Amino acid sequence: MSTENYAMLIDGKWRDASDGATFPSVNPFDGQAWAHVPDATPQDIDDAVTAARRAFEDGPWARTTPLERATLLRRFGDLIKDNADELARIQVRENGKLIREVASQATALANHCYFFAGVAESPLGETLASSVPNMQVFTVREPIGVVAAITPWNSPLALLLWKLCPALAAGNTVVIKPSEITPVSTLVLGRLIQEAGFPDGVVNVVTGAGPAGAALAGHHGVDKIAFTGSTAVGKKIAVTAAERLARVSLELGGKSPNIVFPDADLPNAVNGVIAGIFAATGQTCMAGSRVLVHEDVHDEFVAALVEKTSKIKIGDPLDPETELGTVACQAQYDKVLHYIEVAKADGAHLATGGGRPDDPALAKGLFVRPTVFTGVTNDMRIAREEVFGPVAVVIRFTDEDDAVRIANDTSFGLAAGVWTRDLARAHRMTRRLRAGSVWVNNYRKTNYVAPFGGFKESGIGRENGFHAIEEYTEVKTVWIDTGNTITDPFNPRA
Ligand code: NAD
Repeated sequence: MSTENYAMLIDGKWRDASDGATFPSVNPFDGQAWAHVPDATPQDIDDAVTAARRAFEDGPWARTTPLERATLLRRFGDLIKDNADELARIQVRENGKLIREVASQATALANHCYFFAGVAESPLGETLASSVPNMQVFTVREPIGVVAAITPWNSPLALLLWKLCPALAAGNTVVIKPSEITPVSTLVLGRLIQEAGFPDGVVNVVTGAGPAGAALAGHHGVDKIAFTGSTAVGKKIAVTAAERLARVSLELGGKSPNIVFPDADLPNAVNGVIAGIFAATGQTCMAGSRVLVHEDVHDEFVAALVEKTSKIKIGDPLDPETELGTVACQAQYDKVLHYIEVAKADGAHLATGGGRPDDPALAKGLFVRPTVFTGVTNDMRIAREEVFGPVAVVIRFTDEDDAVRIANDTSFGLAAGVWTRDLARAHRMTRRLRAGSVWVNNYRKTNYVAPFGGFKESGIGRENGFHAIEEYTEVKTVWIDTGNTITDPFNPRA
């Protein structure tokens, strides 16, 4: 099988690594290396940051108006729409996510561009009250400077656009470091950025693994780091950023509770629990990996959940009929299988799944059967640590207080789900749950207007919505004397 070669985008040019090194992108469905991409050296990263700095300070970008940036973002959005099919298929090839999810997501990506074009056109400053006469006081929002966008493999383009669109709307320049598992989709997006007409150096893409990300995050020319990935790496980035007080936003891991009350529509709750944990083969930060079920409906609910889970259709992620694709890479696959063993050793009961599917047609792929453990208590490792795979644990609870106690007894706080028909309970629960998103009688909804981010160790800051522009701007307050007032040298505030 022939492989495709890709280059990095630095200062508007497509370049190999300065030492010529490359690494492969492997399709998790057939185990084939289908593309090679450059393994960026520290020199390449320095070149990219230098280009971004130059574009920020001196280039035509530094003189663009918000309305010009809005026009560029809209053109970029149109190009994403025109190329949605290619972008979707590459992502499936890279990480094994289902085409039926990624295809609609790729078109939705354009909406991020259109929304942040609108944000660029919106009033972002405010006029303030003055304490003295003849004084005009107002704020302006200015770009922070060079943004490093470091992204994970599970939704490489969506999680990138969550950063790129507000960063560009505000007038920043960007150096992107995609995950080493999914670099190609971001490089193809780089081609569309060029076609849209963003000036050279405004958006750069460097490819490589953790050391490349660390070199970028640690570069003194980077003013802000926008990171999505694991909590462990997010903490390292926060430490690196603290040394020079670089701005950071962190979207990290989760161990989100999906809570089923006895008054819920149980068949729909089963659907919601399945969507929450098995979509994207469990590789979403917001996965509802802890399923909390009231003792009165526990057995009935578990029976329905196990039955439906055992019928999930595993297969080729490019087949629109497939309901569960592969895990994205070998290391993640090994990690998921390891956690299944940890759960068994800790005394959890394996109700369904628990390993590879038997089908020989799937032998080359990184498949894990959708897995449900019951008899789990919240102190077990399988209930506390993020697996990032198709593994649900069912935990029994007795009443509302018990549910809240278990749900909040975690170091994470990304998301939570509540299944109930009791409106008052729904409101009580949304108030008491310590999580950045709470879904009632649905799960895993996001869009470009709804802020997304985590409490506690699930992150710092919010992406999407008007809030996101705050993550990419500094506020400047301006005081203009309009009355030729003589300044009192010994009481300048008068
Ligand atoms: P990861 O933390 O291993 O890698 C994320 C990115 O950081 C990759 O580009 C990687 O190359 C880079 N990186 C690795 N080490 C680095 C270092 N020392 N310094 C700088 N960069 C470094 O995460 P992953 O395995 O790619 O993704 C899975 C994780 O991402 C899960 O924990 C998941 O919960 C989280 N995630 C969070 C969200 C969210 O919005 N909260 C969304 C998706 C994924």
